[in-house]
Amino acid sequence: MPSFRLVVIPQCGSCAAAVRDEHGRELLLAERFLPAEVRQRLESDGWSVAAGDRRLNNGPHEMIGEDRLRCPGCVARSQAAAAAAQARHDAALAQPRVKTVDVSARLGAGWTLTQRAGDADQHYWLVEHEGTVHGSVNRYQRKDGTFSSGWEAHFFSGGHEWRLDAISSCQKLHKSSFLWSSRDLAAWGVAHRPKYGAARPAWATRTAASIR
Ligand SMILES: [Zn+2]
Repeated sequence: MPSFRLVVIPQCGSCAAAVRDEHGRELLLAERFLPAEVRQRLESDGWSVAAGDRRLNNGPHEMIGEDRLRCPGCVARSQAAAAAAQARHDAALAQPRVKTVDVSARLGAGWTLTQRAGDADQHYWLVEHEGTVHGSVNRYQRKDGTFSSGWEAHFFSGGHEWRLDAISSCQKLHKSSFLWSSRDLAAWGVAHRPKYGAARPAWATRTAASIR
């Protein structure tokens, strides 16, 4: 019977650059996990190594549990891209404000909603606390260009904008977390990140007298 052995050449998950041994030859392994000394050498050379899960190791053909590698060039490119994205985001947030609304009575001391030039056309507001931008709220724009009366919310973290679902008590549509029912509730969500089952804040509680 012919003997047959599958061999793995570990490589960068982004650009497929092969891992090489000390002599510059492509490294051949019998499984999709790096020996500890190879792992240490790669890390000291600037590779990023995300350890796989050996419990999912069903042999060299099985890719689910494997160690995941990125070469130094790809690590540097993604770090540069992330830094550039953060810089663009910071520059956009640094634009002068043309309108500021004090919402401290609803969101708490120090909270404001602000707009830069052009934001009003998009029904877009930044949610700020004492000059630090925590996120944004905007009316949802439909595909035909018209604006919904419901509001989207995003919170900002690490140069990214993360969608914030409407909690159940503050949804525009019953059982749809897509939109908040008002601007200030969406902003309250960004400011306080309430749990999904939290009650509406007292200032937004509808009473018979307030419904006209
Ligand atoms: Zn690479």
